[in-house]
Amino acid sequence: MYHRTETRPVRVGNLTIGGSNEVIIQSMCTTKTADVKATVAEIHRLEEAGCQIVRVTVNNKEAAEAIKEIKKQISIPLVADIHFDYRLALMAIENGIDKVRINPGNIGRREKVEAVVKACKERGIPIRIGVNAGSLENHLLEKYGYPTPEAMVESALFHIGILEELDFHDIIVSLKASDVPMAIAAYTQAASAFNYPLHLGITEAGTLFSGTVKSAAGLGTLLSKGLGSTIRISLSADPVEEVKVCRELLKSFGLITNAATLVSCPTCGRLDIDLFSIANEVEEYIAKIKVPIKVSVLGCAVNGPGEAREADIGIAGARGEGMLFRYGEMIRKVPEAELLSELKKEIDTIVAHYEQT
Ligand code: SF4
Repeated sequence: MYHRTETRPVRVGNLTIGGSNEVIIQSMCTTKTADVKATVAEIHRLEEAGCQIVRVTVNNKEAAEAIKEIKKQISIPLVADIHFDYRLALMAIENGIDKVRINPGNIGRREKVEAVVKACKERGIPIRIGVNAGSLENHLLEKYGYPTPEAMVESALFHIGILEELDFHDIIVSLKASDVPMAIAAYTQAASAFNYPLHLGITEAGTLFSGTVKSAAGLGTLLSKGLGSTIRISLSADPVEEVKVCRELLKSFGLITNAATLVSCPTCGRLDIDLFSIANEVEEYIAKIKVPIKVSVLGCAVNGPGEAREADIGIAGARGEGMLFRYGEMIRKVPEAELLSELKKEIDTIVAHYEQT
C-alpha cells in the first residue's frame, strides 16, 4: 500500500474521508434528481460497481425535496451539489443529505452562510469546497490574469477561511481543472497549504477513452505522491464507467483492498488461443469480486508460468489447450474450449476460500 498523506478525518454518513483511511470512490448521477425512481436505480447500479459516495445535483426545489425519498432507498452517503442558492442547501440538509458541495464565498450575505453552516453543524454534515479552474472568483482572475494553480489554492483558502471563521472544520476540498499539469500543481500546493482531505478529480476529462487516459495521468501522479482521500473520474459516459476506472486506478497503486486484478498479455505471434476474448470475459467476471485476488491470462508458456507464479490463479495458452496454474503450481492442462469455464470455477473456489478466512 502506498504511503498516504494523513489529513484531518471528516465523517460523511457512515464513512470517514481522510485520516489514514482508504481512498473513497465517488461518482455523480446523470439523472434529474427529482426523478426519484431513475436516480435511485442509477445509484444502485453505481453502488454495485463499487461507488462508495454519490452526488446528485440540487438545482431546484423539486430536487431538494426528492432527497428525502432517495435517502430512504439507498445505503451509500448522498451528496448535494449546490451552486449559490443557500435555501436549496438548507432544504437538502433538512431532508437528510450527508454532505453538501457548496462554495461558501458564493452563497452571498453572511447571514446566509451562517445559516448553512449552523444547519451543517447541528447535523454533523461536512461541506466540500469545490474550486474549479473554469470558475475562479473575479478578484483572483484580476490578480493572476488567468487561472493558475496558485489562484486555485488561494480560492480554496478564501472559502476555507469563511468556514473556519465560523468555527467549522468538517471540510473537504477539490481543486479541479481540465488541464492536467494545472490540476497536479494545484493539488500538490494545496496539500502543503492545509490539512483538509482532498477530493481528487480532473474536471471535464472527456469521453470514456480520452477521459480515462487523462484522469489516469493526472490522478495517478497525485495518488503516487500519497495525495487524495477521495476520488471521482469525470467522464462523458455512463457513470458506472467512472467507478470502474476509479477502481482500476486505485488497484494500480495498491490502494484498494476489495478488488480483483487481472494481468493479461498483449499477445504476439506465439499465440495459439483466442486470448482477447478470454481476457475480456475474465475481466468482466472479476469486476464485481470484492476480494483482492490476482488472475493472470497469458498467451503462451514463455511468460505464462512466471506471471502465474505471482498470481492466485492463471492460465498460459498452448496449441489448442492451456495450462492452469494455482498459486504458482501447474494444476492441470485444459482443452481451449473449456479454459474459460475451468478458470471461472477456480476463481470461484479461491474467492470462497478468501471469504471464509
Ligand atoms: Fe507473446 Fe506469450 Fe508474451 Fe503473450 S505471453 S506476449 S503470447 S510471448
